[in-house]
Amino acid sequence: MSDKLISAIPTDLHIGGQWVPSSDGSRISVVDPATEQVIADVASGSAADATSAVDAAFAASAEWAATAPRERGEILRKAYELITERRLDIAKIISREEGKTLAEGLGEVAYAAEFFRWYAEEAPRTMGHFGRSPVGANNILVDHCPVGVSLLITPWNFPMAMGTRKIAPALAAGCTVILKPASATPLTALALAVVLEEAGVPAGVVNVLPSSRSGEVSNQILGDSRVAKVSFTGSTEVGRVLLAKASERIVNCSMELGGNAPFIVLDDADIDAAVEGAMIAKMRNAGESCIGANRFYAHSSIADEFSEKFAAAMADLKVGPGLEEGVDVGPLVNASTRDKVAQLVDDAVARGARVHTGGKRPPGPGFFYEPTVLTDIDPQADILHTEIFGPVAPIVKFDELSDVIIRANDTIFGLAAYVFSGNVGRALAVAQQIDAGIIGVNRGFVSDPAAPFGGMKQSGLGREGSQDGMHEFLEKRYIAVDW
Ligand code: NAP
Repeated sequence: MSDKLISAIPTDLHIGGQWVPSSDGSRISVVDPATEQVIADVASGSAADATSAVDAAFAASAEWAATAPRERGEILRKAYELITERRLDIAKIISREEGKTLAEGLGEVAYAAEFFRWYAEEAPRTMGHFGRSPVGANNILVDHCPVGVSLLITPWNFPMAMGTRKIAPALAAGCTVILKPASATPLTALALAVVLEEAGVPAGVVNVLPSSRSGEVSNQILGDSRVAKVSFTGSTEVGRVLLAKASERIVNCSMELGGNAPFIVLDDADIDAAVEGAMIAKMRNAGESCIGANRFYAHSSIADEFSEKFAAAMADLKVGPGLEEGVDVGPLVNASTRDKVAQLVDDAVARGARVHTGGKRPPGPGFFYEPTVLTDIDPQADILHTEIFGPVAPIVKFDELSDVIIRANDTIFGLAAYVFSGNVGRALAVAQQIDAGIIGVNRGFVSDPAAPFGGMKQSGLGREGSQDGMHEFLEKRYIAVDW
């Protein structure tokens, strides 16, 4: 059934409302990470195609910016309804190309759709403001206008939600866009293009350009004077490259980058609640989440109990193909992601770490890795300093609160953090000392379209979701008025 779904997705580039092959005929193979088999091949955009996409987005931009905000909102609302109606099919497509379980795919689709509903409601509320200057000399008028043609680059881990979290606010703000999805997961983006067209998004407003030549294509687009903005989600390494390129023309940038989230369990925490939160914060999308808990710090007085209960819960998870009944954890996205996880675990074990559960890849095809819990980690081990992006939980004991806060902040990243305590006041006091953009207090699940999502330090610039997400796509125009 899901193969029929896959073959029904158009596999060409979506430019100016047309489905067109790549100018040089090149294609990307899409692999099912559960079987390692190719399930589709998709056109791979060239630099010339990138220029065609800018042509289309630019041609559509004036009319879209002039479309009444209420009308833009109604189109977004329709997109929300269509995605919600088709959630099962879309979840299956996500699962086939990305690997996550069907339940997680459905969760992603619900989250992804919600950005259209939220920004459908925000579109008509982009009011500027008017006031008298303090010296009384003149009046101040502030207008919000769309920043312009925007390049959106998304990662593979949430192929639907990372796209809609950018497309919905951009369209609500009146911008036209070029979406460059990750090469591992272009099918979901192409399926989304079909839905958006049906929802009434005019030709050229959303262009989808899969490409395995991401550097070449993004350089071409960012070098084009008609493009005003890049919104990127992905690794800090690639974010840095894009910021350098954007600096040449001072292109407006929003960056959602990598993380290394600490998960802190204080001595007075409810251990069962902490384990439940840890399972969510660690195992969402098999650990392939930018806000995934990466390092666990448990107070020495409760660390053994926490580790044992956490390891028992991890050992109970069934690993297998995401669409198979009863499976809790799907494969990782590709061999290199799986091998990096294995290497981090092997290095920690070679330095003396104790394996409570997991610690290896199961036999057979597919990029699987066992849910793993480690303790007794060497403080210098790479696993505590690198984004693991897999189902592995390293647990470290601590005694002093002041010390754990220093360790939590000892990273270039500042995306997410988690704190568990029986005393919310104490947990909040810890949260306020952690340099992270998103903090879960007694909660492992933190994503919410109505809340600002983004990082401090090298985890990014700007915020997605909430009212802030739309302001990333708006410029303020201040007019000093006398009358
Ligand atoms: P990635 O390697 O940085 O790739 C992300 C996107 O950038 C893909 O579309 C990729 O295209 C493209 N890309 C790669 N090199 C490029 C270049 N030189 N110029 C322009 N685009 C380029 O990241 P990933 O492996 O897909 O995703 C994992 C990373 O994303 C993790 O670090 C994770 O923390 C981060 N992430 C952050 C958030 C957040 O909200 N902060 C959310 C999700 C993920 P190709 O696929 O074609 O290479």
